[in-house]
Amino acid sequence: LEPKEEFEHSSLAVDVMRPRRSDPALAVLTQEGMTVGEVEALVESTHYSGFPVVVSQQSQRLVGFVLRRDLLISIGTFVFICVVSSSQVVFTEHTPSQAPDAPPPLRLRGIMDLSPFTVTDHTPMDITVDIFRKLGLRQCLVTHNGRLLGIITKKDILKHMAQITNRDPDSILFN
Ligand code: ADP
Repeated sequence: LEPKEEFEHSSLAVDVMRPRRSDPALAVLTQEGMTVGEVEALVESTHYSGFPVVVSQQSQRLVGFVLRRDLLISIGTFVFICVVSSSQVVFTEHTPSQAPDAPPPLRLRGIMDLSPFTVTDHTPMDITVDIFRKLGLRQCLVTHNGRLLGIITKKDILKHMAQITNRDPDSILFN
């Protein structure tokens, strides 16, 4: 992302992150309790490149991040082998207890990024942009007091920079 000077003003991560107040909620997966059918429905009803994984809808504690592509490949492969739509999708290390007649769970911890990059909602955007540049990030998650609030993608940053500088996002160069 170039050039650096363009971010010398006071925007914060919370000003750039999605969802906006009027947008639908952040699309997240829970580390256990969702079925293959529910995960498929969520993935297919959106176009997002990835999904944060949280402990539970209530806690919104971040566990990891999973790419749409990897989810679809895994579900496709396993459905072919043995998994059914009512199988539970599990991102935890342990296998959760299930009813004895439940189908075997689909364990997807292996495709999850366990340390997705995060910033807090009050992180200044110049620092966030610097981190994107230096680490070559595609996206970064935004938290407040440990609760997941939103996501910032590289494109979100470009659009924000374009708005500020009144330039076409495509004309702003990437490193
Ligand atoms: P890009 O920004 O490169 O198009 P995405 O397709 O993943 O990447 O995201 C499209 C928009 O949706 C972006 O503004 C992003 O902040 C937002 N977004 C990405 N993932 C999610 C998600 N899981 N839930 C809600 N919004 C998301």
